[in-house]
Amino acid sequence: THGVIIAGAGQAGCSAAVKLRNLGYERPITLIGDEPHPPYQRPPLSKAYLLGDLPRERLFLRPETYYREYQITLRLNEPVTGISAASRTIGCGTETLPYDHLILATGAAPRRLPGELGGRLPGTYTIRSMADIDAIAPEFEPGRRLVIAGGGYIGLEVAAVAAKLNLEVTLIEAAPRILQRVAAPETAAFFRELHRSNGVRILEDTQLARVTGSGRATGVELAGGEVIAADFVVFGIGVTPETSLAAKAGLAVENGICTDARGRSSDPHIWAAGDCASLPFRGSRIRLESVGNAIDQAEVIAANIAGIPTVYDPKPWFWSDQYDVKLQIAGLNAGYDSTVTRAAPDGGVSVWYYRENTLIAADAMNDPRAYMIAKRLIDAGKSASPDLVGDPGSDLRTLLK
Ligand code: FAD
Repeated sequence: THGVIIAGAGQAGCSAAVKLRNLGYERPITLIGDEPHPPYQRPPLSKAYLLGDLPRERLFLRPETYYREYQITLRLNEPVTGISAASRTIGCGTETLPYDHLILATGAAPRRLPGELGGRLPGTYTIRSMADIDAIAPEFEPGRRLVIAGGGYIGLEVAAVAAKLNLEVTLIEAAPRILQRVAAPETAAFFRELHRSNGVRILEDTQLARVTGSGRATGVELAGGEVIAADFVVFGIGVTPETSLAAKAGLAVENGICTDARGRSSDPHIWAAGDCASLPFRGSRIRLESVGNAIDQAEVIAANIAGIPTVYDPKPWFWSDQYDVKLQIAGLNAGYDSTVTRAAPDGGVSVWYYRENTLIAADAMNDPRAYMIAKRLIDAGKSASPDLVGDPGSDLRTLLK
């Protein structure tokens, strides 16, 4: 018996290994990662870790002793280079390793501008790994000029850290507004105002033509020809799922490795979890980029491998920290047709998303109570009358009865 091999030692890979052992799985488990570090959490990378507020040790998901104690073989600094589905083996370094089950947990790679547009010049950065942050941290000196391409959560979090450290920050968003893909105009307006009041310049509906500079980035040129000088440039323009191993092995891939509701790929001995997986959801497929999804999906796969048939029913949640604002998101707003905004008495704000009058998601800014109630409702498949939610005097707790 060969046991389980997990390709990718990140959030999903680690969660799968831990859950297998917790469920009493006794065969070998090998967790293979191409980064030099044992599995760690990424969310603080663009928040407290970049700010210098969190020591590196706090990022690790488990102490290194854990893997020895639970007989999880951790192989680091070495990519899985190929899969032979027919012989149930993978290639790693010069070795060929056999598996009973293979879990692909390879995550996603940050996008950059192409090299011919300056996207690979020294002084340009992405924000994905500990190594990325360690490389960029020395740039964060007061007074330096930073251009951020992309107004999604990662771009905005980096802007918040940089503004706090007194850098001069310009954030450029190609879409008509920041957070276009992930949040309603009301939530985007809240964060636009928050950043502007902290001195960040936000340019929306603005195309980046290229990064300027020859030996090193000196700024960016916009589609209109305007040049913005910068000491360094950050790309926060989304990620591409790491599907190359799966595709080469002939597995079904559609913006992510296709899985069924149990996390199984088109090969019965290969599973996929986390940012690299495309899963069935509300009649179509989605890829979810969040810690909650990576953990839950990996744990479902572990249960199935351990012989407990389990179906994954995603209960999406997410968060972001910017300045003194904690954003918490419950549900998925895809396909919403209306929103209701609610002001809490203590200054918090929440935006509630509806599709055909049914509650599907909520963004809560410094309003943990609204988040908790919305999450409980959405997870239970219950709605909340827009009139009640929109009435600031109403008591949300009555919704839970
Ligand atoms: P990863 O954690 O990326 O792990 C995949 C690992 O596989 C990586 O180490 C990769 O190098 C490795 N790998 C790839 N190919 C191979 C190979 N061939 N062989 C071996 N190893 C390989 N989510 C939230 O819910 N809330 C947040 O606030 C939040 N903030 C974030 C901030 C940042 C800066 C980033 C980058 C992400 C954030 N996320 C957040 C998203 C969250 O971190 C990811 O969804 C989560 O890490 C996905 O886990 P994963 O295991 O699928 O991928």
